[in-house]
Amino acid sequence: MSFTVKTASRLDPVKPSITLAVTAKAARLKAQGVDVVSFGAGEPDFDTPEHIKDAVRQALHRGMIGKYTEVAGVRPLREAIATSLGRVHGFSISPDDVLVSAGAKHSLFNLFMALLDPGDEVVIPAPYWVSYPDMVLIAGGKPVIVPTAAAANFTMSPDAFAAAITPRTRALVLNTPSNPTGAVYTRAQLEGLAEIAVARDLLVISDDIYRELVYGDARYVSIASLGAEIAQRTALIDGVSKTYAMTGWRIGYTAGAASLSGLIKAMSKMQGQSTSNATHAAQVATLAAITGPQDCVAEMRRAFDGRRLEMVKLLRAIPAVSCREPNGAFYAFPDVSAYVGKRAPDGKVLADDAQLCDWLVDAGRVAIVPGSGFGAPGFARLSYACAMEDIRKGVGRIAEALATLT
Ligand code: PMP
Repeated sequence: MSFTVKTASRLDPVKPSITLAVTAKAARLKAQGVDVVSFGAGEPDFDTPEHIKDAVRQALHRGMIGKYTEVAGVRPLREAIATSLGRVHGFSISPDDVLVSAGAKHSLFNLFMALLDPGDEVVIPAPYWVSYPDMVLIAGGKPVIVPTAAAANFTMSPDAFAAAITPRTRALVLNTPSNPTGAVYTRAQLEGLAEIAVARDLLVISDDIYRELVYGDARYVSIASLGAEIAQRTALIDGVSKTYAMTGWRIGYTAGAASLSGLIKAMSKMQGQSTSNATHAAQVATLAAITGPQDCVAEMRRAFDGRRLEMVKLLRAIPAVSCREPNGAFYAFPDVSAYVGKRAPDGKVLADDAQLCDWLVDAGRVAIVPGSGFGAPGFARLSYACAMEDIRKGVGRIAEALATLT
């Protein structure tokens, strides 16, 4: 008789990450020799800058970077993070209120585990980064999804936020610039949200992982910088993955004002009983990234900006596709709903955006992520953190494939 393991019901409502699934399918086809253009991955195509890698090489030569560190991260790194985030957000942060984790994803996971009791609610504007609702579910909480409209640049209004709040609400997740929409909240919009968070005594979880990647006239504004009261109740989630092309090093961090010491300590306890410290060598790399020259960031931003404009232009040229200009991050988020429900040449009806995107990989040899994974059916996410040549080739393939649908 074969043995089967019953897995925990805790995971029953949890979906696997759709972005990782699409990327994996494209990678599988590539491994079989199929020429697939992948717009799936949320990571820069650049290598980690040389001075960051050098810092690790030197540390390896000096020795003793293969050891456990303090759970929260080595002191010099926490000091550098406290100083740099203090500057960005305009208030003083103690290194004791910084927790270094294995990626911002890990930071967020620790946060929800440390924050939520069963049934506690977290307000999440949609379209959202895929992992927020599932992390809240794993932690026993309830994601409360607030839809936003393309016409409102996918931003949540203060009224919509206020309407979503119940006696069980604990926090708002704010992600500006946003994955997947590239939307950047303005100061006035953030003031409206901050006022409600303060009046209703809520925590704001500000996921600032894309704050260095804004384009054109858009500016990143920190909600925590808007006043002492909102600063006190904002948990800052940040990291080096996107800014310094360091996704695989797996370093993210959480920081906040002294009022959040209890939360950061609880997160540290969670991390201390699960993963302990983030990799020591990666902490060394992160220190070099934060304290070293910053021109690499501007260079990568310039490259992303050029690709952004090209991708949006090409997407807009596809009949019946509309695409807002994203102001930040590195994703375009076009409306492809006109093609949902159409019939492929083999007779198959592509009943939803997931089927449409799945078909595009096989028939068009191009991988894009269905919007339903981000709480926005009918849209799709394309990362433009890839070579310009791939943008032209890949969007061309989308146009050609969609033209065969009837
Ligand atoms: N937040 C957002 C909005 C993201 O897009 C990502 C990466 N896709 C993360 C957090 C996590 O980043 P990491 O774990 O690589 O630091």
